[in-house]
This record gives sequence, C-alpha cells and structure tokens, in this order.
Amino acid sequence: MTNHIFGRSTKGSLPVATAGDGCYLIDATGKRYLDGSGGAAVSCLGHSNAAVRAALHDQLDRVAFAHTGFFTSDPAEQLADTLVAHAPEGIERVYLVSGGSEAVEASLKLARQYFLEIGQPQRHRVIARRQSYHGNTLGALATGGNEWRRAQFAPMLVETTHISPCYEYRDRAEDESVEAYGLRVADELEAEIQRLGPDSVMAFVAEPVVGATAGAVPAVPGYLKRIREICDRHGVLLILDEVMCGMGRTGHLFACQEDGVAPDMITIAKGLGAGYQPIGALLVQGRIYDAIAKGSGFFQHGHTYMGHAMAAAAANAVLGEILNRDLLTRVREQGAKLDAKLRSSLGQHPHVGDIRGRGLFRGVELVADRTTKEPFDPARKLNARIKAEAFANGLICYPMGGTIDGQRGDHVLLAPPFIIEDSQIDDLVSILTHAIDTALAA
Ligand code: PLP
Repeated sequence: MTNHIFGRSTKGSLPVATAGDGCYLIDATGKRYLDGSGGAAVSCLGHSNAAVRAALHDQLDRVAFAHTGFFTSDPAEQLADTLVAHAPEGIERVYLVSGGSEAVEASLKLARQYFLEIGQPQRHRVIARRQSYHGNTLGALATGGNEWRRAQFAPMLVETTHISPCYEYRDRAEDESVEAYGLRVADELEAEIQRLGPDSVMAFVAEPVVGATAGAVPAVPGYLKRIREICDRHGVLLILDEVMCGMGRTGHLFACQEDGVAPDMITIAKGLGAGYQPIGALLVQGRIYDAIAKGSGFFQHGHTYMGHAMAAAAANAVLGEILNRDLLTRVREQGAKLDAKLRSSLGQHPHVGDIRGRGLFRGVELVADRTTKEPFDPARKLNARIKAEAFANGLICYPMGGTIDGQRGDHVLLAPPFIIEDSQIDDLVSILTHAIDTALAA
C-alpha cells in the first residue's frame, strides 16, 4: 500500500520530494518533474513562489494561531474582504476552513440550519449529480456521485439523489443543439425536485466544471442559468463546488462567473492556498448569514484550525499574485495554447475521444473506439499506466478511471501552474502523448 500513509510503507516505493522550482518539483536524486496537474489542481502559482514565502515568514514572525473562539486576525479579515470583493453578486460572508471536504460539509450544515432558522424544518434533502466528487468526509462523500469512491461506505452515507451530469461528449444526441441539450439535462433537476416533494429539498450541489471524476467537463452554456431558475422556483439553495475549478483555474476567479450565475453558496480550496497552506472556504449569500445571525445567532459547526492566520496569510499572497499580476488573463491565454497543442498532438489520435475544459483546466478522454465511444476495459488499468509512464518521464499529470459512470472510462486531467511557459506546454503535451502511446502499446 503506497497511498498517503507515511512510515514504513512509503520508504523506497515513492520518490522523496525535496525542492520546488516554478513549474517543477525535484526529488532527492535531483530528478525534475514538470508539474502538469499541480497534484490535483492545487499548485496554481507553481512551487517556491517568492511572494507567498515572504508572506508566510512575515506572518510567522507575528502570530501563527489564535483560536477563532477568542480572536480574529488581520489576514483572515483581509482574505474574507478580498474574496467578497471579487465574488459573484450577493456573496457577503466567508467561513474559513482547512480544505475542500470541510468547506462542503460546512455548506451542507449551514444550508440545513438556514432552513431551520427560517421555519422550514422539513427541508433536508440534497440533490447532486452522478458524475461528481465533493470530498471524502462522510457528508461530502454522500453528496458526490462517484460509485467507485462511495461503494464501500454506502451503508454509512446519508441518502442523496443524483441526476445526470452535464456531459456533452457522451450524452448530447447528434441532432440536438448544445442549448437544447443543456436545458434537457438541467430539467432533470426540476423532475427530481417534484419527485422528492419540493418542500423537502434543501440544496442542489454541482461542480461548474467537473474535475477529478471526469477530467474537466464544463457545463454547456445555459445549463447553470436554467439550474438557477429551477432552484429559485422551488426555494432550493444552489451550492456550487469550486474546490477544484475555482480560484482562477478556468480563467475567471470563480468558474461560475463565466456562466453568469450567482449561487447561494460557493466552496473553494485547492488553488486558494496553492499548496502553500491547507485552506478552504465557504462563501455565502448575505441573506443566509443574516437569517442565522438574526435567529439563533450561532452556526452549530466549527473546526480547531478554521481561520488559521498562517493559512489566511498564504491565501492573501496567492490572491495578490493572481490579481496583481493579471494571471487570469494569462490562464486564458496559456489555456488556449494548451488546448491548441493538445488538439494538434492528440486530436486525430485513434484512442482520444474528447479534449475539453476551460482555461488551464483541461481533460483528455480515452476511448477504445472513437466512433462508438466505447471505453477501454477497466481491467487494463490504462489510466494508471499513463500516470506511471508520464511520471517516469518527468511529468506529473492526473489520469483517472471511472470517467463515464464511476466504473468505466479513462481520462487525463491537466491543471498546470498559471505561470507555465510556452516551451513547458510543448514539453507537457509531448511527454503526455508519448505516455499515452506507451501505455496503449503495453
Ligand atoms: N470538491 C471537489 C470538487 C474536489 O475536487 C475535491 C478534491 O479533489 C474536494 C471537494 C475535496 O477537497 P479536499 O481533498 O481538500 O478535502
């Protein structure tokens, strides 16, 4: 067993990361790895960023931790203000936690408490989508629709219903317009709310661009607007999970800004700390906060490390870099180049079915047959082979299986640092193409 459990089991089986240098990680032998996925869309500024390092040193010299039951801190207040200033309309409050799962858990509990406080205690049901991942803690895992991740824990998961994802490549009929397709799948939410009983539904949760379980699958234009209308019609809260796709990854600070939709709550994490500190946040509409503030006055939730001053200081520096260096424009420009390069190298490949995404958040879906879109047999473990082959050749990318239904299908997720140079995009695509071909030949 080599995953995530440190001690004897990892010694000798994984390289030891000893340094970071811009878009590269370096191991103890001096080997350099181009970080084409930021782990899983975390390292948006690359490694060893000078501004973030300075901010962390500075904060450490002041104060690292002061419990939020007693104190606030300058970095936490500054971070909340910056996030609100750039967030979609109506977002006025920020709840700082330590990661993505914590942000999603907080959103579910805040939604529940909101309905209790406004006198609708019957609302407790959550609807999400089949192709989704919202975290590994039990509430977040129940919300996610990925069968492979859920299966072993199914008896422990609160009942959540899942509708179809917005997955144009596989689900749009040939004679259906993109717009009609988006409305058709969005309308599944209406049907599901009616089936469950509109008064019992608390929230709909979705990723605007699906990350880990699907490989950067964006909602088609119009889909999220229709979802917003349906939620409004039934008094259901819209929670958008931007843990992976938020914080500039798609070329907008919040991915939903491209869709022109303002949700009731947004969860963010990964790119917020950019790997320099563990941090996540739940952003909420003012009226939700007000209902609780003017009601019981106490959100029945909390974690020891929430609002951590060091984590907030890192996030302030990250946001400073993204906004002051206009990295959002750079994400759009370099994202377009990455997309073009992927299409020129892999667009005609007999086993590449789809290349998709937004900004520097891109996915490549692999198929056994391009015409029928038949996936590879999962027993072939194609995604694991691609990962190993790319890694051996100095590229970190994020291939996964279960793309279609949590069981079948392979994709590669790419999420390089926003500072990636043209020549590094060339290297990334060339190593990836070679890894795919070598894995397919095995
Ligand atoms: N939500 C989404 C969309 C994610 O991609 C992830 C992690 O990959 C999570 C939530 C969970 O975040 P964390 O791993 O920080 O708990």
